[in-house]
Amino acid sequence: MKPLNIVHLFPELLNLYGDGGNVIALRRRCEWRDIPVQVTEVGMGDAMDFSHADIVFIGGGADREQMIAKDAIAARKAELRSYVADNGVLLAVCGGYQFLGHRYTMGDESVGGLGIVDMETVRGEGRLIGNAVIESDIASMPVVGFENHGGRTTLGAGVKPLGRVLGATHGNNGEDGFEGVHQGNLIGTYLHGPLLPKNPQVADYLLARALERRGESCELAPLDDAVEAEANRVMARRLGVS
Ligand code: GLN
Repeated sequence: MKPLNIVHLFPELLNLYGDGGNVIALRRRCEWRDIPVQVTEVGMGDAMDFSHADIVFIGGGADREQMIAKDAIAARKAELRSYVADNGVLLAVCGGYQFLGHRYTMGDESVGGLGIVDMETVRGEGRLIGNAVIESDIASMPVVGFENHGGRTTLGAGVKPLGRVLGATHGNNGEDGFEGVHQGNLIGTYLHGPLLPKNPQVADYLLARALERRGESCELAPLDDAVEAEANRVMARRLGVS
């Protein structure tokens, strides 16, 4: 079997709060199941053919890093759009998530987005910071993490969020109760943590979609996630969600 190819976009720049841990979690969960896997790091100056990608990951970045990355992201717009249109699996976190929309406006400056998702982000007053927990239909456990963003994201009408906020979680904009986006095989979210080590069901959801897209069995052998499940439960309980 051809190795599952996880493409990590701009790891040197977009890797806030240990977001690179998402790639480690995906790789390890493959290795534990003897699923051949490889990680391809694509730097800002590198060419990349997304036709060989099975999962693309874009991490978060501060506003400054987003300004630095915006041209390199824009240069891959057509390729990324066709990868997603072809049901490519993509996970984007925070700054990476904001790149999926039409634009991220910060006062007088603006970062153009990929326009893959009908959504807009505008920097608001103050930052939305804290531990976070949401309910999502892709996981039976609550999805837990940490958020810290100045941008407020609003999804277009009919665009499906990743989930609904629980407790004091801010989510996309602190107002409408939605968190992230889930469109086909694409997931965008504000949740750092990193997300996937803390939420193994989300990791397996992405792996299953990637295998399914390749026409392979998406029945994943169960792993012993007792430690992860307990950590998830503790955090959800601390946030007032049992
Ligand atoms: N710079 C963006 C914001 O503040 C994203 C931050 C992040 O990736 N944590 O909204």
